[in-house]
Amino acid sequence: MFRNFKTVNRFVFGRGCFDQLDDILAAQRTSTRSAIVFAVDGVFQGKPLQERLPLRNQDIVLWVNVDDEPKTAYVDWLTDQVRNAVAERRQELPAGVVGIGGGSTMDLAKAISLMLTNPGSSSEYQGWDLIKHPAVYHAAVPTLSGTGAEVSRTTVLTGPEKKLGINSDHTVFDQVVLDPELIAGAPREQRFYTGMDCYIHCVESLKGTYLNAFSQAYGEKALTLCQEVFLQDAPGSDDKLMMASFFGGMSIAYSQVGVCHALSYGLSFVLGVHHGIGNSIVFDYLEEFYPEGVAEFRRMLSKQDIQLPRGITATATDAQFEKMVDVALILDPLWENALGREWRKIMTRQRIGDLYRRM
Ligand code: NAD
Ligand code: ZN
Repeated sequence: MFRNFKTVNRFVFGRGCFDQLDDILAAQRTSTRSAIVFAVDGVFQGKPLQERLPLRNQDIVLWVNVDDEPKTAYVDWLTDQVRNAVAERRQELPAGVVGIGGGSTMDLAKAISLMLTNPGSSSEYQGWDLIKHPAVYHAAVPTLSGTGAEVSRTTVLTGPEKKLGINSDHTVFDQVVLDPELIAGAPREQRFYTGMDCYIHCVESLKGTYLNAFSQAYGEKALTLCQEVFLQDAPGSDDKLMMASFFGGMSIAYSQVGVCHALSYGLSFVLGVHHGIGNSIVFDYLEEFYPEGVAEFRRMLSKQDIQLPRGITATATDAQFEKMVDVALILDPLWENALGREWRKIMTRQRIGDLYRRM
């Protein structure tokens, strides 16, 4: 069976296109569902972007905190805030949820829009195709590029048991607003690490066993754009990085990520290391799996003058190493994509543990 996957309904791309958001959202507002929920990265509170939010009377602004990557408990709490605020407006549901920020904020917006129409806790839906009811309309405005969260069918959440996405067709955004001006102010190191998330998506997709011409077409273009951005500092880098993120996300939609992401999830779950930086830390130890990719990644580190953190597992306990291995091993499709069906023979607990101990 070939995957028949859902993708984003509408895209708008261009410098300054954020100003079209009001018109775009107006089409979603009705008399019974009039409020738009803006889930905005708290980093923009008091910044010029706050003044540019196209707020109307009924709207609700949630300044979200992304110091930690999204947790299921936080999603549940935010969803309750929205439910209460909408009830005060004597409505049942908002007209839509818009996420404005990096991958964490976009994932929060996706998760809130899903949990408004699905009962229980978001932790009950971590996995594949567990969502029962369509989400409310949801849109994304990235302010950092690389994760591909703007195009993916998952919202990555850390729950009580595991770090695993809510993967479903209903997770996919209805609208994405790609305005390269919005990523210009991102801190240099953060921009690099999130950009490397995209670069690693491409390498893992292109070197994986799930690759087909569809994934390859998107992956190769995204990889070239990353090279232009991080090796050549090419003109129009923000525009290019935004498109790399989108294409990288499309590439893994029909393939998968691999060894680096599986290991990075373990680091993130146990030590709270964020995704982009975690991937970068891990990737530097994966020469045996991705020799060319790792060599090029090191050239990018040097060109962009980035020093990777070292020794992050130096004080981890045996129990923590065991948990990291457990979390990494849950991710079957990633290992299978990277190493083939017989991956369990290649990637033993011992070998994964040894890799973690080196980091
Ligand atoms: P992020 O959203 O976690 O943000 C990182 C930091 O950058 C935060 O401090 C944020 O406030 C700040 N920031 C964002 N935009 C800024 C701007 N324009 N100016 C100044 N500061 C800005 O970072 P990210 O790397 O984009 O996202 C990582 C998250 O995405 C993780 O939670 C990861 O699990 C998730 N992710 C999701 C998918 C998916 O398909 N859904 C894919 C990969 C990663
Ligand atoms: Zn990633």
